[in-house]
Amino acid sequence: MIRIVHCWIEHPVRKLDQTFTYLYEGNVERGCRVQISFGSRRLIGFVDSVEESEESREEIEARFGMKLKDIEGVLDEESLITDELHDLAMWMRDETLSPAIACFQTMLPGKVKPAGGRRSTVSERWVRLSDKEVSLTPKQLEAYLYVKEHQPLTYSELRKHYPNQARILIEKEAVIAEEKEREGKALYASEPEASLPLSAEQQKAMDEIRNSDDSVFLLQGVTGSGKTEIYLQLAAEALQKGKQVLILVPEIALTPQMISRVRERFREGLAIYHSGLSDQEKYEQYRLVKTRQASIVVGTRSAVFLPFADLGLIVLDEEHDASYKQDSQPCYHCRSVAMHRGLFHHCKVILGSATPSLDSYARALKKVYHLVVLKERINRTMPEVTIVPVRDSIRRGGSYILTDVLKDKMRDRLQKKEQIILLLNRRGYSAQLRCRSCQEVLKCPHCDLAMSWHHDIRRLKCHTCGTEMHTPSACPVCGSKAGFMSYGFGTQRLQEEVQKEFPEARILRMDADTTGRKNAHAGILQAFADHEADILLGTQMIAKGLDYPDVTLVGIVNGDEGLSRSDFRSCEVTFDLLMQASGRSGRGEKNGEVVLQVYDPGHYAVQCAARQDYETFFYQEMKFRHAGQYPPYTYLAALTVSSRDQRQTDRLALALKASLSGNFQVIGVVSLLKINDRCRSRILLKGKDEEEMRRAIRRFIDETDLDLKGLKIDIDPLYLD
Ligand code: ADP
Ligand code: ZN
Ligand code: ZN
Repeated sequence: MIRIVHCWIEHPVRKLDQTFTYLYEGNVERGCRVQISFGSRRLIGFVDSVEESEESREEIEARFGMKLKDIEGVLDEESLITDELHDLAMWMRDETLSPAIACFQTMLPGKVKPAGGRRSTVSERWVRLSDKEVSLTPKQLEAYLYVKEHQPLTYSELRKHYPNQARILIEKEAVIAEEKEREGKALYASEPEASLPLSAEQQKAMDEIRNSDDSVFLLQGVTGSGKTEIYLQLAAEALQKGKQVLILVPEIALTPQMISRVRERFREGLAIYHSGLSDQEKYEQYRLVKTRQASIVVGTRSAVFLPFADLGLIVLDEEHDASYKQDSQPCYHCRSVAMHRGLFHHCKVILGSATPSLDSYARALKKVYHLVVLKERINRTMPEVTIVPVRDSIRRGGSYILTDVLKDKMRDRLQKKEQIILLLNRRGYSAQLRCRSCQEVLKCPHCDLAMSWHHDIRRLKCHTCGTEMHTPSACPVCGSKAGFMSYGFGTQRLQEEVQKEFPEARILRMDADTTGRKNAHAGILQAFADHEADILLGTQMIAKGLDYPDVTLVGIVNGDEGLSRSDFRSCEVTFDLLMQASGRSGRGEKNGEVVLQVYDPGHYAVQCAARQDYETFFYQEMKFRHAGQYPPYTYLAALTVSSRDQRQTDRLALALKASLSGNFQVIGVVSLLKINDRCRSRILLKGKDEEEMRRAIRRFIDETDLDLKGLKIDIDPLYLD
């Protein structure tokens, strides 16, 4: 019998986004990787479907009207994905207008990605008793009995206990050693913590979710209102029914408390999946889910693609967070994928946030999602917020970095041995250097963006492409040697100022510069939890789910800096950041305070955040979105063209512009800033019918002769600047 095998090809060129047909006489399944030749090249194919045929080779070729090649080898013994995930990839291909193979690449962990080629898994040596009778010395016998009692066990474990006997037992063939693929271990709580008795408000929310037939819920609860406890109790119920649970979080490193809380709660196996894992570790976690050794997973964006067989609950915590959106092809949103999977598994999907995205909240108001609200904090006190206008401080000759109000409150907390969090969402020392002669800002030679001064390494860094350089002796624009002035300030400078003001205070800084090493985040957060520091200072990294009961003061420096970004979401992002950061204060027994240093105290994002008033912000912001016809009133699709050659970029952008038409606006071509030496242009589609925009783009892709390598399609982009 011959198998007719249809494969996707590893090459992610849009023009090749179709299956190619091969023949094979051996066994091969859908969802395996195969070795094939394509033209003169040898490639990896990903099997889309297999037909078994009783025809002869000649008959098959006659039917297809061409000669068919044979598959040269099969890389996987069993399918890497389930049928559900296969369909999901096809859905994602349509949604995001990405090549199918790019979707499979995104869904699978590195070790088994189609482009990854032959799997190079790490193996381990295991030992077990043989049935051979051999004579042993007393010490060897002891080791032998240890194996008998503990088998199966790894060779390294045996060596740890019997360093001198292990090898001899194998030589004498008393035990047999075998190489096995290394496996991950699911985590278990040894003594699971009991769930907390719910507050009345939590109980009501929980019942509402439990007793409803709706599938998607938006759980909106102020910071500290106990959303996590609700997730955990819903998870426990799903696990009890023998189902699997997926809890998605924005960034594991920044939410260590979520993992420890899940970990302490359940006896069922827990897997943890995030981008900080090595390829081998990711593969092991993927196996744990596939073999059902893990029934609950806490993970970031890509965990949404794990091969669950029977999901009973999906939670997406901090559903508004931008890290749920992938910024490269396929530009998918984890929330949409989660809902798609929820539909397949008939399980509830809970979107949780203190500050839901405008899109989700608007849907909840339209009853597309079921809205469940938690209004009160568990400890019943919201932090008291003081808005401090920085201009007033400057006018009185005070500092624009630490105002007197903030300094006084810091001094008070330091005396009381309570803890302080300081947020400044800009890393480095000073923001920019300007030429004293021509006033031009020093820019990255590859990106058209301002370089930031880093005082510790005494160099300039580009935060976009990573380029570092010394301060030039002359201005690259006007050639003047008059030197440079610094503008603005970042976390390094803030740390220096705080240390000057409070020489005794112990400060931890957390930003992209201090967290480069693996596990650095966890180290800093643990040290703060252990009271090894009085002040935790950092960028938006410290604004998320941290729950430290002794933090009673949060200072937000340059809190409204984000408002000056030229993006339609900049108010929403700033509001979220202020709300989240404020929410870190006063979570324990003691009341909390927040000092909000801003330049524009009257702005509604600042005012609403200070009152922790999501609803008013929502309606204000919706007015602005309506006036500009931005989402959620319209749909957007961003087409970004980039290449090293300006003419090539222009050619494709203009061709796009000329061909795209329909019942939507075509905005641009807009030239974007150069990044990493790539010239970029963008066309933006804006319309009421998302599918019509997709159809127009698809038509262009099918009909054009141009090379589309530099084209990025982002349906429903998060940011435009
Ligand atoms: P959120 O996720 O909404 O920010 P958390 O779930 O982190 O809130 O809860 C805030 C704090 O309140 C945590 O320290 C948590 O342990 C505690 N907490 C939550 N629910 C209860 C409860 N029912 N009883 C006692 N403490 C609770
Ligand atoms: Zn100059
Ligand atoms: Zn750069």
